[in-house]
Amino acid sequence: MVTHRSAKAWPPRLEGRAPLPLPIAVLLLPVIVAWTLPQTLAGVAIALLRLGEGYRPSLCRFGPFLFVVIRARGPLSAGISLGVVVFAQTHEILKHELCHLITGLWLSWSYLAVYGLEYLLAGHDRSPHERVTCWLERRLSWGWSVVGGWSS
Ligand SMILES: [Zn+2]
Repeated sequence: MVTHRSAKAWPPRLEGRAPLPLPIAVLLLPVIVAWTLPQTLAGVAIALLRLGEGYRPSLCRFGPFLFVVIRARGPLSAGISLGVVVFAQTHEILKHELCHLITGLWLSWSYLAVYGLEYLLAGHDRSPHERVTCWLERRLSWGWSVVGGWSS
């Protein structure tokens, strides 16, 4: 099986406020998955496609949250947050993508429809969801860390 590596090594963590204890994230995960089920299922479906291409998932912690991160290149990988599944081409975009889960929580199951509509009407950079996410990314002092190290 072919494994893909990033051109640059990814650090195991981003400096900042440490994630909350892992048991909190593990207990919260099923609640977040249920709350974000449509987008998480879409993320899992795309992740399975990427797994078939040789990419491997990693678990990442951010505040009270636990995410699956797929470090992949190509389409659907530049930076996409689908529920608890994040696709990132570089580690520099990871905090932003992790913030998308937080800003998307208020939309729950309507996230894909509302964000999609915003995207169509206002475009990516001007959509309210994107602007709030960028604001949160600047304000939030949380760092992220990898659970068990990157897979490749
Ligand atoms: Zn964004």
